[in-house]
Amino acid sequence: MPVVPLLHIPHPPQSLMNAAILSIGDELTLGQCVDTNASWLAAEFAATGLITIEHRTVADDREAIARAVRELASGVSVLVLTGGLGPTEDDLTRFGLADALDPGSELVVDPEAVAQLARWFDKRSQPMPRSNDVQTRRPPSTRMIPNPHGTAPGLAGQLDQCRIFALPGPPREMMPMFRNHVRPALADLGKGVTLITEKINSFGVGESLAAERLGELLARDRETMVGITAGGSIVTARVRFRGAGDQARDEVQRVARRIEDLWKPYAFGRGEETLSEVIGTLLRDRGKTFATAESCTGGWLGKLIVDVPGASDYYRGGWVTYTNEMKSACLGLSSELFDEGGPGAVSEMAARTMAEGAIRQSGAAYSLAITGIAGPDGGTSNKPVGTVYIGLGRPGGEQINTVVRRFEFSGDRLAVRHRSALTALQMLRFELLGVTERVSMLWETPIMTETPGS
Ligand code: AMP
Ligand code: MG
Repeated sequence: MPVVPLLHIPHPPQSLMNAAILSIGDELTLGQCVDTNASWLAAEFAATGLITIEHRTVADDREAIARAVRELASGVSVLVLTGGLGPTEDDLTRFGLADALDPGSELVVDPEAVAQLARWFDKRSQPMPRSNDVQTRRPPSTRMIPNPHGTAPGLAGQLDQCRIFALPGPPREMMPMFRNHVRPALADLGKGVTLITEKINSFGVGESLAAERLGELLARDRETMVGITAGGSIVTARVRFRGAGDQARDEVQRVARRIEDLWKPYAFGRGEETLSEVIGTLLRDRGKTFATAESCTGGWLGKLIVDVPGASDYYRGGWVTYTNEMKSACLGLSSELFDEGGPGAVSEMAARTMAEGAIRQSGAAYSLAITGIAGPDGGTSNKPVGTVYIGLGRPGGEQINTVVRRFEFSGDRLAVRHRSALTALQMLRFELLGVTERVSMLWETPIMTETPGS
């Protein structure tokens, strides 16, 4: 097998533009504190054209810190450490850093840090605790970075080609120190180069099928890197290119449009755009309104729609009809539908009647209706847990022209309900875009003739 380089970026040399992040602290390795520093730093690096190639987390352990610094520094041009600069016994970052940068030597006292710390405690009219002494010490080859927001100064040093910065753990101290001292010190690395990224979101198509459609674009040796992630039932393509500003922007836009084309009609938006925002824009542009009728989603669909400011322009409102009685009273489902031998509340007929009832009652142009079995109980052999009927009511001359689709969603109660709501929105989106051919959707199953009593 040929060896595929994991990351191939021809200009400038790869290691010159890569960064790594080392998070330090028992609270992180034990999972008691979520490492928000690392994600924040990686985004900051990206903004300066640096790609973060590794995040590592180690406990408050001097040897582990020293080993991690040596290993990470050998592969990147910038390494940022956070945490472990405090005054207590378990704050060992300065010692681990010394072992890696200045093996065999003692920490030295930094007179400027002594003065700063004295001022800090003076200002608060407190004596300096002896334990803070350690914060005036640094590995001999490093310099200190002042910290106006706390007692822990940062440290800056170098190991071979790699610039190393150790910053305090608390985000409110770490972030300004990075912005004011680290970022300016990296300005020469980027030099007109930026890292441009874009996300293209899709729904209703599985991750592997989505990947298949992208084909060669996903090859790992391309200059414009494309990756796929699935989360919250949304399949997302991430595009990334590093180059001169305008060139990078154009290239990313070109590839993003290509992906949207290959993912038609499932791709619905870019970046953080949601399906309900897209629906909102489509309805507003067309001057159309719609309404909802929900059972198993319990109002989730309505919530998603109302999450978008200004939804009253197009959303008339909806019903959460959880019981049969409410379905009949509010939306006009006939009681025979629920009779022994009838199709039941989870059926093509129920979804259809709910969708039509919502249009009649609200006067909206379109409606979405959802009825299903979210589980964990209540499934039967014909209608297992996850069975959901979704009705789309739409204008059809004198009559209402309704389509119903049947799904068997996988996942727990939460996933079934979330997928139901998103699927309904995607069905409406297809309709508003005039997608005429029947597009297959993930989890869809054919509607059989309704078996009585099931
Ligand atoms: P330290 O500088 O190690 O004394 O960390 C002090 C506090 O900063 C911790 O108790 C956490 O609340 C916070 N902290 C440390 N590291 C991180 C991190 N990677 N992400 C978010 N918060 C952190
Ligand atoms: Mg700590």
